[in-house]
Amino acid sequence: MRDCGRRCVYCAASLDFARATLDHVYPLAKGGAHAPGNVVAACPSCNRLKADMLPSEFFMRYPWAGSNFIHHARAVHRALKRQARRAVSLAFAGVRAAA
Ligand SMILES: [Zn+2]
Repeated sequence: MRDCGRRCVYCAASLDFARATLDHVYPLAKGGAHAPGNVVAACPSCNRLKADMLPSEFFMRYPWAGSNFIHHARAVHRALKRQARRAVSLAFAGVRAAA
């Protein structure tokens, strides 16, 4: 919680302890670790939205979540942030290509 500045790392909504949920950035269901570098604080709606998506899928589909993640998820593994940056830039490139 402290590491994430008491915000949801995906939508940046401020969280209190009662509403905060823990999200595994790389889902446990897909082999992610239950370890500090893979766990972030998220609001219930983002947690539901993400469900068992891989971080790259999730950030491609919701680039706003990726941008917030890059800014707010300070304690996650660098590899996850790299993935997020890549997914967000691909998503924005796709938007430009479609426009
Ligand atoms: Zn959220």
